[in-house]
Amino acid sequence: MKFCSDCGARVASAIPPGDHLPRYVCEACGTVHYENPKLIVGCVPEFDGRILLCRRAIEPRLGFWTVPAGFMENGETLQEAAARESREEALAEVEIGSLLTVVHVLHANQVHVFFRARLPTPSFGPAPESLEVELVPHAEIPWSELAFPSTEFTLRRYLEDLASGSQGHHFTEFDRRTAYGARS
Ligand SMILES: [Zn+2]
Repeated sequence: MKFCSDCGARVASAIPPGDHLPRYVCEACGTVHYENPKLIVGCVPEFDGRILLCRRAIEPRLGFWTVPAGFMENGETLQEAAARESREEALAEVEIGSLLTVVHVLHANQVHVFFRARLPTPSFGPAPESLEVELVPHAEIPWSELAFPSTEFTLRRYLEDLASGSQGHHFTEFDRRTAYGARS
């Protein structure tokens, strides 16, 4: 951030009184501009033993596969965000189920949240953000062509839970600020 979104003056990085982290502080009006992690929300839509995957038509990771997911909007719940992203990226109306994974992506200041989901009818298609959308059998998931580590973590936990007949909540973190990738 270079300029204040309130008054347009230049901002400087400084630790405000009583705070412990540097913030962008407006040199004219004094407004403190806090920056906090962003929420990415998605789901794993299943129909008849197959999972709905989208091949990305946009950067980052253009051409790689993912489940429907995207930035949460103001005024919606996590479940509503997950359902909306399925509609926007895959033209699919899904029924959101239980919480599946929470992935802290520390180097990107993001938290990714994924739910299980049901696709009641096999109706879907590529929206502008997707090159193609497919129902993929579990054994044919393109593991080497997945877009993000959170996608892989989520799909692996999903399949493990299916195999064991459970519906767990799984947490992990990725941190490329460290030398060896994931911190845990
Ligand atoms: Zn200002």
